[in-house]
Amino acid sequence: MGLKTPQHYVESLRDGRVTYWDGERIDDITTHPRFRVPIALTAVDYEYDAADYGALRRYRTEDGGEAHRIYQVPTSEADLATRVELLQHTSIGTAVSGVYMALMSVKDDVAQVNPACATNIERMYRYCRDNDLRAAEVITDPKGDRKRRAHEQDDPDLYVRIVDRNADGIVVRGAKLHITAASLVHELVVMPTKGMRQDEKDYAVSFSIPVNTKGVSIINRSFAPAALNEFDYPASAHHSMPEGFVVFDDVLVPWDRVFLAGEVQLASRLAQSLGLWERTGGVIEAVRLSELFVGLAQLVSEHQGKERDPVVMNTIAELITYAEMLRMSLDYACRHFEQAPSGMVFPNVLAINAAKYFYAANFHQTVRHLHDLSGGLVLTLPLEADLRHPEAGPYIRKYLHTKPDVDVEDRMRVYNLIRDLTADAYGGWQFVVALQAGGGLSAQRIMMNRTYDLARAKQRALAAAGVKPRAAAKRQAAE
Ligand SMILES: Cc1cc2nc3c(=O)[nH]c(=O)nc-3n(C[C@H](O)[C@H](O)[C@H](O)COP(=O)(O)OP(=O)(O)OC[C@H]3O[C@@H](n4cnc5c(N)ncnc54)[C@H](O)[C@@H]3O)c2cc1C
Repeated sequence: MGLKTPQHYVESLRDGRVTYWDGERIDDITTHPRFRVPIALTAVDYEYDAADYGALRRYRTEDGGEAHRIYQVPTSEADLATRVELLQHTSIGTAVSGVYMALMSVKDDVAQVNPACATNIERMYRYCRDNDLRAAEVITDPKGDRKRRAHEQDDPDLYVRIVDRNADGIVVRGAKLHITAASLVHELVVMPTKGMRQDEKDYAVSFSIPVNTKGVSIINRSFAPAALNEFDYPASAHHSMPEGFVVFDDVLVPWDRVFLAGEVQLASRLAQSLGLWERTGGVIEAVRLSELFVGLAQLVSEHQGKERDPVVMNTIAELITYAEMLRMSLDYACRHFEQAPSGMVFPNVLAINAAKYFYAANFHQTVRHLHDLSGGLVLTLPLEADLRHPEAGPYIRKYLHTKPDVDVEDRMRVYNLIRDLTADAYGGWQFVVALQAGGGLSAQRIMMNRTYDLARAKQRALAAAGVKPRAAAKRQAAE
């Protein structure tokens, strides 16, 4: 019980979990080079005494204990603002534990259908919080043929399902794909990926189990090789996190860890609540990235002496528009928060979905602006080793000179960050993350259609068009 240290965290990962990477079964991830950066990144969030963000990381629970703030259920606008600040300084390996915010926000609805499951949510939330554990958001099924429902697939296991119910619990089989940090957390919090119908009861399943549970295997994948030089890769040398292909091979889940087992009416409610918190995280990251893009565009232009060129200024204005729209959307979503009957507050659903959509739909275009300004060096800049070479280095310094006040090494660092963030392996990862993580564009479109006040918009349009309310009502009644 209580807060762990970074060392405790690392030790806790030596628990027999079954993980694979690059054709190798890895028995101890803490000593394997592929996991070095991801573990170091996640371990930082256990530095509760750190001068920079130590105080932000912890909070006092209602029981008087101390816990990581990722578990603080927001009940006011100020709490929400603090949560946003926390997420700006938290690794994704910890941020995914926000899955418990999704569960806590649906707990009341679950209680109405199955009080025992709601009790399980509350107990597991406290267990993870009080033991300073990390939990992954395990929602996306392989889904097979997208035109067919879960129970209509050629292989019934293409969505995670219950294959047996017994006195001890449920037995589940299936897989979940793309699970961020699955190998680096303690608990896998599984939810249905979408709404389920009456005949899909076995697929309406949600639970939490330890990563080292018998029958769980994780196949890892990431954009990053084991080691990257931080001059050439200023972003990804320190930031990589494997996604896990998580397999549940007839896994027994004890009843006290089950959140949903056949209550189809709650399946989409769970999926949507997680979507909101995932998208909020996505927008927070988008605000950070978009501001970086503005700074990089301005720097790369200044280094080349073209910052007063009207075309350059127009392009930078486009980047500023993107960054400011995102920043304002996040701010709006938190100020116009929504509240559950329990008192828990959460970001405005429509605003977050519109913001995430705006981020994803315009991300590629925004990067195009940055690439357009930067030129070919984004891809062809020589490596640090050549810069440091006694013969090659002087050529690089001579021919990358632009102006007396521009240091060639600084110029190279700016290019390296542009390439790393947008044009190399990490950059390619970012392109797909912007679109798919937290759900593809259509997931946000669906939520916007659902939550926008279309009736009010229609009424305004009718009034503006001069359609009398009674005539409109009559026509509508006849329709
Ligand atoms: C880096 C990364 C990290 C991720 N982390 C997590 C995580 O931690 N946890 C987690 O659970 N998930 C995670 N995801 C998964 C993410 O939520 C999904 O990738 C996303 O929801 C899209 O699902 P999909 O990949 O199965 O693609 P698909 O469902 O195949 O979607 C691709 C496209 O097909 C369209 N489409 C889908 N079905 C139909 C249909 N029936 N008819 C017509 N068009 C259709 C979609 O609208 C979309 O445009 C992550 C993804 C990435 C890339």
